Amino acid sequence: MAQIYERVALIGLGLIAGSMAHAMRRDGLAGEITGYARSEETRKVAAEIGLVDRVCNSAAEAVKGADLVVLCVPVGAMGAVAAEIAPHLDKGATVSDVGSVKRAVIEAVGPHIPDGVHFIPAHPLAGTEKSGPRSGFAELFDNRWCLIVPVDGSDRAAIDRLESLWQGMGARTDEMEADHHDLVLAVTSHAPHLIAYTMVGVADDLGRVTDTEVVNYSAAGFRDFTRIAASDPTMWRDVFLNNKDATLEILGRFTEELFALQRAIRTGDGDHLHDYFTRTRAIRRGIIEAGQDTDAPDFGRVKS
Ligand code: NAP
Repeated sequence: MAQIYERVALIGLGLIAGSMAHAMRRDGLAGEITGYARSEETRKVAAEIGLVDRVCNSAAEAVKGADLVVLCVPVGAMGAVAAEIAPHLDKGATVSDVGSVKRAVIEAVGPHIPDGVHFIPAHPLAGTEKSGPRSGFAELFDNRWCLIVPVDGSDRAAIDRLESLWQGMGARTDEMEADHHDLVLAVTSHAPHLIAYTMVGVADDLGRVTDTEVVNYSAAGFRDFTRIAASDPTMWRDVFLNNKDATLEILGRFTEELFALQRAIRTGDGDHLHDYFTRTRAIRRGIIEAGQDTDAPDFGRVKS
């Protein structure tokens, strides 16, 4: 695929930035990739493994001359990073981000964007429980969605160019309004993570999480919770603090449904349980038909 940006600056060099760097290189989408991370240790590792073409010692240096800057730091750090880079942005450049929450990022970053610079928030719906500069890989975005969340006055040509980049990195793109994005993600990602954290916490409270019984028999469902609950604590703290309303709305509904299921178990209402589980099974089928997960038993972990 042809080059889309001359110089891309990645601020933050973890899982998402690293995967972007690998994917952009795979398809020759950027002329040069610069990068900056807060700690010297991360910058050192990034330089050692050649994650980007040039590791810089400041965010300001990384963004100089870039026609695309992507903020790949935790949601709570976006505003401070935007303030730091703002005076060093080139006219006509695009600033984007990959944050898991959009309204709070728009409010934190938007006011710092100078006139003549495009601001186009985005969120790739792809990730793993790993973090850091060694965790990225080129295939992370293949066939996954990247939601583009234009703000008032976003330039159409700049949006299309950013979408081409994400498509070049393997993703499918769609555009969405910020509040709607935050509600959808509260259902599909944020509340499920909180539930997984809670379930693993409950097992830990019982003092049994490292017991051989729990470990040996974790394939019964608990194992999938432990994978999700191993996700980066800083990133997820910031997600919940910055998508408060939507997450609380979904958790409120979740609690009501949980009480209804609890009651059905207590009263022996098998029909209620069976109807409910029939409905949820159909949702799984829909996800597979949409090509968003494997149909293999136990996510393909079963060896035939
Ligand atoms: P990560 O692997 O933990 O990397 C985060 C990077 O941000 C690191 O390079 C870190 O630098 C830097 N950083 C952290 N705090 C900072 C601060 N206060 N100021 C400047 N830099 C800071 O995280 P990630 O998974 O790539 O996530 C990055 C963003 O992508 C987050 O906004 C997250 O919501 C979003 N996202 C994540 C996923 C996922 O599944 N992981 C999926 C989609 C979107 P040091 O290494 O030097 O600390």
